[in-house]
Amino acid sequence: MTARQVVRNARHWKTGEPFELAVEGGRVVASGGPGAAGSGKNDVDAAGAWLSPGLVDLHVHLREPGGEGRETIETGTRAASAGGFTAVACMPNTHPVIDNQAWVAWVLQRATQVGHCRVHPIAAVTMGQKGEQLAELIALAEAGAVAFSDDGHPVMSAEVMRRALEYAKPTGRPIVCHEEDLTLRGHGHMNEGPVAARLGLGGIPAAAEVVMVRRDIELAELTGGRVHLAHLSASGSFEALRDAKRRGLPVTGETCPHYWTLTEDATAEYDTHAKMNPPLRSARDRAAVIEAIREGIVDCFVTDHAPHTFEDKRQPFDLAPFGIVGLETALALTITFLVKPGHLTLARALELWTDAPRRLFELPAVTLEPGSPADFTLLDPEHEWTVDASRFRSKGRNTPFDGWKVNGKVLATWCGGEITHMEESWMEAPAR
Ligand SMILES: [Zn+2]
Repeated sequence: MTARQVVRNARHWKTGEPFELAVEGGRVVASGGPGAAGSGKNDVDAAGAWLSPGLVDLHVHLREPGGEGRETIETGTRAASAGGFTAVACMPNTHPVIDNQAWVAWVLQRATQVGHCRVHPIAAVTMGQKGEQLAELIALAEAGAVAFSDDGHPVMSAEVMRRALEYAKPTGRPIVCHEEDLTLRGHGHMNEGPVAARLGLGGIPAAAEVVMVRRDIELAELTGGRVHLAHLSASGSFEALRDAKRRGLPVTGETCPHYWTLTEDATAEYDTHAKMNPPLRSARDRAAVIEAIREGIVDCFVTDHAPHTFEDKRQPFDLAPFGIVGLETALALTITFLVKPGHLTLARALELWTDAPRRLFELPAVTLEPGSPADFTLLDPEHEWTVDASRFRSKGRNTPFDGWKVNGKVLATWCGGEITHMEESWMEAPAR
């Protein structure tokens, strides 16, 4: 049993009102206005920072097993806690692929041993993510898989996707769809458009995403299975998602900070740190992402944290792998580019990183009320800082945001009542 600790002088994430809480044994035991939490040992003076339930990222690549040179469960979850996250769902495109119960159990066990936050494995839809033979979805759900995905690859066969949705349906778990028609993608390396044409690089048309989104919406209607559309980037995808919601279909969708922050122009200097899949798109697509977020069409935010080694990304653009890291910049990019310009309130932005993803994958609820797991994030939305990739906890340094000035800093993170991250400069501040 850990000693009682009080976090005082905070502001409540929804109301901004003065707020404090007490933690004991990994749970919130008292909370409310000034004086509500009493006193404890090693109390933390939050000095007016905002206290929110811990952030959740439903789409990260922890690379373990098999990709330990790029990231491990230990380093990936350390990066997550530095970014304010107390839970992540990790993708199964590892080596070997997480396509059986034993590997799901292994990820869960490894996370308990070395993890700095909660880890929820997503299992493959098909064996080896080959798109042919279905994995044993019901057994995988029983082993603890929170969703199914062949992420990294689309399920190209509509028939296989149909069966997957039918088999997944009784588990209540969604299929997370990486939407990319490989016949349309061809040998593309970035968005099809004027920048690709000027650089002489093969382009990936937005339609490669949109036609698959449309297909899987139809399959959700046919089967009644839950479709969750991964990392949406194209204007047409949001139109399709809007349409699916209007029809009352079991379809949800996510997008990532880079799609509301950047356009294909970021790749204009052959910067491989801006090479990702789906690719950064046009200014019109970026505006559509923001509009869909404002409207409430986007169900949650995710990072698609995809670490690569320095050597991997130091190759010519057409040879470098797709992907950027995102855990340690996600909150700041949300505050800087959505909250500050007035697209979202801070409370709504935080909801899309906390309650919304928990509901989507039916993870245990986290509140700041007594009885809740003590998983929370203390943040200062105004704090300006400069992204310095060399200081990332992730093994990955592959970010196009290195050197950017941003607002919104995670000061401390608690998971299960333990402090899993505390910002050094803040910890050393004399007032504390
Ligand atoms: Zn993907």
